[in-house]
Amino acid sequence: MYVAIAGAGIGGLTAALCLAERGMRVRVLEAVDELRPLGVGINLMPSASTILHGLGLAEALDEMAIRTRCVEYRTRYGHLIQSDPRNVEAGFAAPQYSVHRGELQFLLLETVRERLGADAVLPGKAVLRFEQDEEGVRIFFADGSSGRHDLLIGADGLHSAVRAQIHPGEGPLHYEGTMMWRGAVSSGVIGDGRTMVIAGDHDVKFVTYPISERVRRKGRALTNWVAELRRDRPRDIEDADWTREGTREFIESFRGFKMPDMDIVRLMEETGTITEFPMVDRDPIDFWTVGRVTLLGDAAHPMYPIGANGASQAIIDGRCLADTLADMPGPEGLLAYEAARRPATAEIVLANRRSGPERVLDIAAARVTGPEDRIEDLISAEELEEVAASYRNTAGFRKQTG
Ligand SMILES: Cc1cc2nc3c(=O)[nH]c(=O)nc-3n(C[C@H](O)[C@H](O)[C@H](O)COP(=O)(O)OP(=O)(O)OC[C@H]3O[C@@H](n4cnc5c(N)ncnc54)[C@H](O)[C@@H]3O)c2cc1C
Repeated sequence: MYVAIAGAGIGGLTAALCLAERGMRVRVLEAVDELRPLGVGINLMPSASTILHGLGLAEALDEMAIRTRCVEYRTRYGHLIQSDPRNVEAGFAAPQYSVHRGELQFLLLETVRERLGADAVLPGKAVLRFEQDEEGVRIFFADGSSGRHDLLIGADGLHSAVRAQIHPGEGPLHYEGTMMWRGAVSSGVIGDGRTMVIAGDHDVKFVTYPISERVRRKGRALTNWVAELRRDRPRDIEDADWTREGTREFIESFRGFKMPDMDIVRLMEETGTITEFPMVDRDPIDFWTVGRVTLLGDAAHPMYPIGANGASQAIIDGRCLADTLADMPGPEGLLAYEAARRPATAEIVLANRRSGPERVLDIAAARVTGPEDRIEDLISAEELEEVAASYRNTAGFRKQTG
């Protein structure tokens, strides 16, 4: 079985490792001429960390990524609404990691090259379209060349060419109306150095967490942050580019935020490069697979980054694809993979539109009137746990105990 994967992102590279582990030949075809460690922070949920640990990457992850202790939801006045533990001690099978996307991508890339061979990933191969018959699939590239494989996996991200051919006329991306500005900045250690903080409400929100274990061991932090402002109504948009540089006027909207353990305006002002990205997704689709071709990761189920699940779900896709193909080589294996993953990921896309676990922010924002309020007088512990537990079930990272 010779499998082509379009896209050397987190999903494509993880799928390559899983497929090779199950004895398949794999080639990863990447559009850009030179891969660079782009992006800022992402999170790996325990379910995804388990898979990467299974691929022998536990030690490398522990060297580079922060083992997140918990997610704290706070009001704009700094009240703690809820502390949602995410660590092994809280009963999860593996840690939640906060990590630099580019560093993780390069760990996966180097591991693919080590295990599958130096030419397992081919840069400069932008997939344009495919043609298939009973025996295989021919892939046509932007550089004029073509190649033939048994199967094609479209792991080519948000603007997937493979998805566009499977679902022509799907149209533009769905924009939630929220713009996100992101950055990572060297800072002192905030709190215990292992906590993700999400503060504010659906319209004005600030998220921050440390992403480098190497820096933490030196007594400092590489602090990732995302500032979100809802300033538009939901509508369709054409372009969304992870690398677009942003301007800094948005910082003004956060001057009223008062956190007990950090100066968020200063963190943003001291950041060198700030990128700007709209909160976009797509409606879940009825099918991912046509014959010998299927979709994976953002190409299959682009979702709002609420609940920090994009990379994790792409990793889970890769594991599931390899396991089903090992049992059922060929198109029927692709259908079995889709049957396992499409309904589960569609549910997450829709849960994220309803704010996922961050619903507690809006519940608190609707009831809190100022810094003197006591959160425990406004929201019960049971109400808070119900929101957290419901999202854990949807996103598939249930606790083993407790
Ligand atoms: C440059 C970049 C920066 C990002 N930064 C962040 C971030 O800071 N925070 C965050 O939460 N998420 C970020 N993301 C998105 C995040 O990586 C994904 O949501 C998640 O990891 C799922 O990964 P994926 O493999 O499905 O898609 P991606 O990680 O987007 O990978 C898709 C890959 O496919 C390649 N590709 C695209 N079109 C083609 C084609 N036609 N043929 C071949 N290859 C193609 C792309 O170059 C890319 O390498 C970023 C994505 C990119 C591409």
